[in-house]
Amino acid sequence: MKLPTTPEGWAIHLSKLVKIFHDAHGLNRFPIRVAPIAEEYSRNVFPDAPITMVKGLDLSDKFEGMLMPNPNQIGEWGIIYNSAITSKGRINFTLGHELGHYLLHRHLSPEGFRCSSRNMLDWKSEHGQVEAQANTFASYLLMPLDDFRQQVRGQEISLALMRFLSERYEVSITAAILKWLGITDKRAMIVIGRDGFIDWAWGSNPLFKSGIFYRARQQTVALPEQSLAARRDSSIDSQTGVVHPKGIWIGDEEVHEMTIFAPKSNMTITLLLYANSPPVRFQTFLEDDNDDVVEAYDRFAR
Ligand SMILES: [Zn+2]
Repeated sequence: MKLPTTPEGWAIHLSKLVKIFHDAHGLNRFPIRVAPIAEEYSRNVFPDAPITMVKGLDLSDKFEGMLMPNPNQIGEWGIIYNSAITSKGRINFTLGHELGHYLLHRHLSPEGFRCSSRNMLDWKSEHGQVEAQANTFASYLLMPLDDFRQQVRGQEISLALMRFLSERYEVSITAAILKWLGITDKRAMIVIGRDGFIDWAWGSNPLFKSGIFYRARQQTVALPEQSLAARRDSSIDSQTGVVHPKGIWIGDEEVHEMTIFAPKSNMTITLLLYANSPPVRFQTFLEDDNDDVVEAYDRFAR
């Protein structure tokens, strides 16, 4: 049998096996359990390089997870996640990410991979090609597109829906939002704030093509003063959010903002929804659509 070579191909391949198994046993397929898949699959398909251990260790908070060769048994691999992390969603995504390294990259790096929480957010970075691939694999494995589309179809887009998705697939709310942004035809953006500044932001393609994106990384950008994210106003239901007049958020348009405040840190997760069609002045830009130019921009704001 010819094995897959791409992150999406691998995820779809494993996803099909999981579905067949669960359908045959009348079991619910979600959330997908990565550990038994990693051990079972590697033992059967790569008997010379099985994954023989998946476990948590109290790692320094710099690390989210690792793929490591067994120092005592040549050929064997282990997946380790940081047991100091309490979010089940983050752990599950990390396990998927490390399995992605195993399937796609273990020959490139016999000494294994040590992955930081930053790596888990490298979705399109040119510098972190292997990290972006491991994330794509994890995203497709844990949130298969057929099921994801079915869950979202006809639903009102809100943080409540994103929370539902994050629970269904046992991933972080950020991972669920990023997945949705990757497939939607709506104009929307996620903005992660830290200590009053934009840590990073990521928009859907339709929003990006209408000319709205943050190009930070070179500079620090404060969260807009009147945004929910900056005001941390607990009297406003952050799941319902607020429709701001133009001039508050980037884009000079009305924007629907919904924000979650992380209680223990100074982190905010914001979902911005823009109108489906951009204002008329962008029409020329859209007609002039040139993907090369668009790709040339650095989409990730840091
Ligand atoms: Zn990694």
